[in-house]
Amino acid sequence: MEEDLPKGVKEMGECQHFIDGKWRSSSSRESFETINPATGEVLASCAAGNEQDVLKAASAAAKSFADWKRFPAPKRGEILLKAASLLRQRKKSLGEMVTKEMGKVIAEGEGEVQEAIDFLEYIAGEGRRMIGETTTSELPSKKCMTVRQPVGVVGCITPWNFPLAVPSWKLGAALIAGNTVVFKPSSLTPLCAVALVEIFQEAGLPPGVLNMVTGSAQTVGRAIVEEERIRAVSFTGGVEAGREIYSRAAQKLKRVALELGSKNPLIVMEDADIGLAVEGILFGAFGTSGQRCTATSRVLVHEKVYAEVMDQLLRRTRAINVGDPLNPSVDMGPVCGREQEMKVLRYIDIGLKEGARLICGGKKLTEGDYGRGFFVEPTIFEANHGLRITKEEIFGPVLSVIRVGNYEEAVAVANDVDFGLSSSIYTRDINRAWRAIEDLETGITYVNAPTIGAEVHLPFGGVKNTGNGAREAGSAAIAEFTEIKTVFIDYSGKLQKAQIER
Ligand code: NAP
Repeated sequence: MEEDLPKGVKEMGECQHFIDGKWRSSSSRESFETINPATGEVLASCAAGNEQDVLKAASAAAKSFADWKRFPAPKRGEILLKAASLLRQRKKSLGEMVTKEMGKVIAEGEGEVQEAIDFLEYIAGEGRRMIGETTTSELPSKKCMTVRQPVGVVGCITPWNFPLAVPSWKLGAALIAGNTVVFKPSSLTPLCAVALVEIFQEAGLPPGVLNMVTGSAQTVGRAIVEEERIRAVSFTGGVEAGREIYSRAAQKLKRVALELGSKNPLIVMEDADIGLAVEGILFGAFGTSGQRCTATSRVLVHEKVYAEVMDQLLRRTRAINVGDPLNPSVDMGPVCGREQEMKVLRYIDIGLKEGARLICGGKKLTEGDYGRGFFVEPTIFEANHGLRITKEEIFGPVLSVIRVGNYEEAVAVANDVDFGLSSSIYTRDINRAWRAIEDLETGITYVNAPTIGAEVHLPFGGVKNTGNGAREAGSAAIAEFTEIKTVFIDYSGKLQKAQIER
């Protein structure tokens, strides 16, 4: 692995913080390890930051803000384009790094790098838009308009399941808008974060504009949320963490954007193309070992096609090749670490105790090389709606299949959860597809496609407990990281009084 490590990690022997344009060890002198979930191998040691490190990072970000804000947005875009081009040059090695540190199969590892490239290229163009409104005035010789301004120093806190793409979304949008950043990556995937920060540095980002502090949720994460100079927090992660961050930040009246958990349904109606639907279920449920926020975790099947769907689904699931995610012939890798594995196995146990019928998988794989990593069989339950496994986020390769009698029941079951990120319906009835688009309570709906597969030029986010209304990616991304300033220009040369002179 040594030769594949980011340059900085090789030179310094550990993942360090990046503060004011320099790699630095932690004030705490403590460290933690990042491991390969497929082999248990330690990939690198990593600086465990503390409040002082966050303070230094926030000070550097605050100091560099005025200059970065004044730096023309199209030129900021050129730096992001350079970063995208460096990502493209290193797509293969970065894809491998994602796979080694997070455990997704290599095609998905490289796909994730592509997603980061796509987004940075897309958002770089925002440097030449950042569009406001220009409108009339109720008074003569007066113009009214809005301009977008950066928020200031922003905190970006990211999860492990997309260790390059989610940070690229947040950092790209924050930077193009003229903000400076304090970034905390997941403690499970710091290497990918170091590699990304190195790329921004190499692309020409001035010192202090992007700062990264690695370390735990309760020290580094909490300090980012509490630090006065950080005016906004952009968070992607679980619902419990989101709730805590939201309430702490509320005390400081900070802006907070939350992208949280999910329980995504895929509906198969009686008129669906069954083969296509089964392909979609397999990709949605077991892609990234079920650890995508948009993963299919519930399939609602019309009773008339239930037997046919289950027959194909079981046959295909049993044929899934689980193993070393670097091997291109492998379909599914490990889950991302011991805690994740324990959580998934706990939910399988809950499903069994609740009386759901386990029809495929359900066990940890332990034989031979599997024993070194965190592998769980692709698992399918037949379940009645209402069990915990049908309502709570599991975030692993565990699928619940629920039989439904008609469209109305399918929609009612689909919507009867606390989350609302992604949904899907397989049907050949165009009227019903349009109804589903209106009826399903999610931020994203797919028709005849799995619940996963978002594209970066469209807004991404969810409703209900999946978030607080923020959207990332697409044209919406810039709203999260800007304030709107309203401007009135009076060129009449005299005092004019709105509302009064009418
Ligand atoms: P997590 O445990 O909530 O952690 C996410 C990040 O937040 C990590 O960097 C974590 O630090 C930090 N953190 C956790 N608690 C914190 C707190 N109280 N204050 C400040 N920082 C805190 O989530 P995860 O296990 O990494 O990721 C899986 C979750 O992310 C799933 O629920 C998934 O649905 C969600 N997700 C949602 C989307 C979306 O767009 N809706 C996209 C991807 C993932 P440490 O790593 O140091 O603990």
